[in-house]
Amino acid sequence: MGAKKPRVVIIGAGISGLAAARRLHACAGDHVDIVVFEAGDRIGGRIFTSEFAGARVEIGATWIHGIDGSPVYEIARKAGALIPDDHGESGIHWERMDGFPSDSLTLAEGGTAVSTSVLHRISALFSHLKDLIASGDTGTGGMTSVGAFLRRGFNSYRASQKEIAVDWTEEAAFAMHECAERTYTAVDDLESLDLAAEKEYLEFPGEHMTVPGGYSRVPEFLAAALPPSAIRLGRAVSLVEWRRSAGCEPVRVHFEDGAVEPADHAIVTVSLGVLKSGLNFSPALPDAKRRAIGRLGFGLVTKLFMELEKDDESKIPFPFLRIAFDPGRRIACIPDWIRRTESICPIHRGSRVLLAWFVGGEAAEVEKMEDEEIIRGVHATFAGVADGRKFGRITGVRRSGWGRDPRFLGSYSYVAVGSSGDDQDELAAPLPRDRSPSPPLQILFAGEATHRTRYATTHGAYLSGVREADRLLRHYGCQSCGS
Ligand SMILES: Cc1cc2nc3c(=O)[nH]c(=O)nc-3n(C[C@H](O)[C@H](O)[C@H](O)COP(=O)(O)OP(=O)(O)OC[C@H]3O[C@@H](n4cnc5c(N)ncnc54)[C@H](O)[C@@H]3O)c2cc1C
Repeated sequence: MGAKKPRVVIIGAGISGLAAARRLHACAGDHVDIVVFEAGDRIGGRIFTSEFAGARVEIGATWIHGIDGSPVYEIARKAGALIPDDHGESGIHWERMDGFPSDSLTLAEGGTAVSTSVLHRISALFSHLKDLIASGDTGTGGMTSVGAFLRRGFNSYRASQKEIAVDWTEEAAFAMHECAERTYTAVDDLESLDLAAEKEYLEFPGEHMTVPGGYSRVPEFLAAALPPSAIRLGRAVSLVEWRRSAGCEPVRVHFEDGAVEPADHAIVTVSLGVLKSGLNFSPALPDAKRRAIGRLGFGLVTKLFMELEKDDESKIPFPFLRIAFDPGRRIACIPDWIRRTESICPIHRGSRVLLAWFVGGEAAEVEKMEDEEIIRGVHATFAGVADGRKFGRITGVRRSGWGRDPRFLGSYSYVAVGSSGDDQDELAAPLPRDRSPSPPLQILFAGEATHRTRYATTHGAYLSGVREADRLLRHYGCQSCGS
């Protein structure tokens, strides 16, 4: 590094921004001036542990998707977050503390339990189709979307069963799996999810687990390694000016309150939703990058937590309830916004806090609705599938609001039909691209949507932050220290 300390401004204190800051600080120490500007009043971004009805809940990221070799798992371990932070003394319970439940009750509209043989058949079919997608073995036939491929698979299965009378619960069970797939991928319609790109997506091997001490302990651990003044909250960036004339810092970061900060490098980590419509650049980003931002998908997932009344008559714990809605047998009282939800289940066995996930259009509706309207809709759904069972009454709700929050404008990214992993690489490419006289690496891009194989996850976000820190360290001839 030269005599003058380079100044690196990081926009966003989510896990990617904090990972970049920590890596730079750990490897370059006082040789680099690092400051993280965060629009919100907390760090962590789409990682946000909170409490509802006495339980620990995750408003955003919930699972570590595979723990073998996972850097996020390793940080959670170092942070001491893999054991409950009170060692269970306060009796605080957390989301999916008992792992993923295997004993679900699947009811069809009207209340009939869907037969085990139907569930096994359809679940095996769905898993088989997903394996084909993951291996890229989807055959020919011009299919471009996951939705079209899955439906073709189901139709072929039905055609092969032509001797057997059509069982409507098979169709409903298949649709239920499709709804779960929408949640994992955040797409409103699986017809917009690119088929070819799915085979590039990677998870770490091993168990998927939630974080007993709360997921927020991960970004907190990263932030704790930084000097206290390195993170500035409540500083919303409105414009990133770059390619300024020679002889001064090439980047100027403008804030909503009118302040301006000069820098040698800016690492932009805001969500793809914010890049699509919330942050300005001058000069504008190159066409190729703008096209990539436009083509990649950014979906909305809303988590709805519900508290069950304490002294309801039912003494039976609320089941892990999956609902196979049937378009042909609509029970009028069940609202449309709940019809593409796969399950309503306690956050752990025996909990009085229930959780349902919503995606796309319904997620946006749930974000907007009044609490009472949501509760009425959930009670109507219980009534529509109860058939004499008692599910109890909901007394209060809490939902995430990622879509309407201007700091996120959605939940996580996906590869939409018409885009590809090349767009993720294009998004990740630093600016300026050309070898012009203006200094290199003025704007770098990190964040989950910039990771070609682990997008949509905390893993992708974390690794993208490390990637951009290492890019700068290489530029200045520093060794990455592996921290
Ligand atoms: C409901 C939900 C469930 C999820 N479940 C999982 C899961 O189970 N497992 C998993 O691995 N991942 C999950 N994810 C995805 C995971 O949370 C994200 O991929 C990851 O946290 C993104 O981190 P990031 O640093 O890229 O972005 P962010 O966390 O979005 O960080 C960007 C930061 O930039 C800030 N910002 C925005 N605009 C500005 C501005 N103008 N000026 C300054 N700062 C700004 C934001 O406030 C934010 O703090 C989930 C996400 C959601 C929403």
